[in-house]
Amino acid sequence: MAVNIKIHHGDGSEEDPKKENKEVKPEPIQHEPTPEAKSFIKKVVSYGRALKSRGLYDNMADEETIQKRELSCHGDAKQGLEPCHLRKNSKKFAGRYICGGCGCGDKSRNFLNGDGYIKLYYPDVTCPIQMPGFINETPAKPHENRKKRVEIQIEQGYNKQANDNNKESK
Ligand code: SF4
Repeated sequence: MAVNIKIHHGDGSEEDPKKENKEVKPEPIQHEPTPEAKSFIKKVVSYGRALKSRGLYDNMADEETIQKRELSCHGDAKQGLEPCHLRKNSKKFAGRYICGGCGCGDKSRNFLNGDGYIKLYYPDVTCPIQMPGFINETPAKPHENRKKRVEIQIEQGYNKQANDNNKESK
């Protein structure tokens, strides 16, 4: 039979020694968001929506949206904002970047920079960590340090000249 022992303090309060090691909630640490696990079906649906939004005539998101996406993916060296931790160098195409979080593969249609119709141009395109500019964007949580800095830079009027990663190709 379990015996319930309690320590009685002079002030009338009681303490359960088993609870002495009270759970101390760790302080939230600053870290970058990780992509949500997406099923194959969801990836196909998401890609289908992006393709549909592009249409037959290469529809593009508006300039401001594309600039937000560029900031989200590539950062802004002039303002000390580093690129997204999920941005990867393409192994097949030198000088090109792809998203390492969406699982779409190292293919030309997924380029994040350079010539041609790149991923950031699709009117309806998602980001695996819901960064600003993408259709599934969500506000930064307190620990999402870089996302917060992206938001602040956008709020402060992101300098349209600051990031010219793709200017020539548009
Ligand atoms: S699409 Fe999102 S996760 Fe991928 S590189 Fe850009 S900001 Fe990062």
